[in-house]
Amino acid sequence: MVTRTPLVAGNWKMHGSLQDSEALVSELCTGIDSVDEGPQMLLCPSHVYIQAVSAWLHGSPIRLGAQNLAESPGPGAFTGEVSGAMLRELGCEYVIVGHSERRALYGETDERVAAKFGTAQSHGLKPILCVGETLEERETDKTRSVIERQLEAVLGETGVTAFTSAVVAYEPVWAIGTGRTATPDQAQEVHAFIRAMIADQDATIATGLQILYGGSVKGANARELFAMEDIDGGLVGGASLEAQEFLTIFQAA
Ligand code: PEP
Repeated sequence: MVTRTPLVAGNWKMHGSLQDSEALVSELCTGIDSVDEGPQMLLCPSHVYIQAVSAWLHGSPIRLGAQNLAESPGPGAFTGEVSGAMLRELGCEYVIVGHSERRALYGETDERVAAKFGTAQSHGLKPILCVGETLEERETDKTRSVIERQLEAVLGETGVTAFTSAVVAYEPVWAIGTGRTATPDQAQEVHAFIRAMIADQDATIATGLQILYGGSVKGANARELFAMEDIDGGLVGGASLEAQEFLTIFQAA
């Protein structure tokens, strides 16, 4: 029986205000005291709130991450970018790379995502690599080939050993922010596929790898998703902005 520590990560995207964020963190810090030890909770606020959230989380078991980082290790002339070193300095342990919104809206290619993955690790940050297919790709039976391409781009660049210190998030694009969740079986099938791809290169690394599901996770569906063998928690968008809902998801893990 394999035991991987579940991880429940909140991706706040470009939501909220400083005041909202403080109230949210305060409610989560209170709520997390009353839940069992075991799963890990992670918050990924906007870059501009990271320093404040880091201070509010002081002494709490909740971890801190970012939603993006510069591809270049820097420092240097990269106006508007935030380096991995800066994120580490503010207390981040994790960073999301390759979120579908960044791929679709900001032109992040597989190659750039792979570069960001490597840069994150070079700064001691754990990348959370997002992979996932669009609805059209699913309907034309391309789910596996898309996931394979996205994962291969990183494996080819960094090698499988890099996955000892990384997380993968399967996020079907059609389920993100749509209220439409993959069924536990649909998600499990892709998670097992991802784990098998890693296992092809190193079985031990595959066994230890946390693979999160993301796409309209809520308190009402988290338990059945997290009960699947290869689902090790969730990457949560909308529902991570409501403390009680996020705590319910966390308790499901
Ligand atoms: C996400 O943005 O990573 C996400 C999964 O969003 P939501 O939970 O809102 O679908």
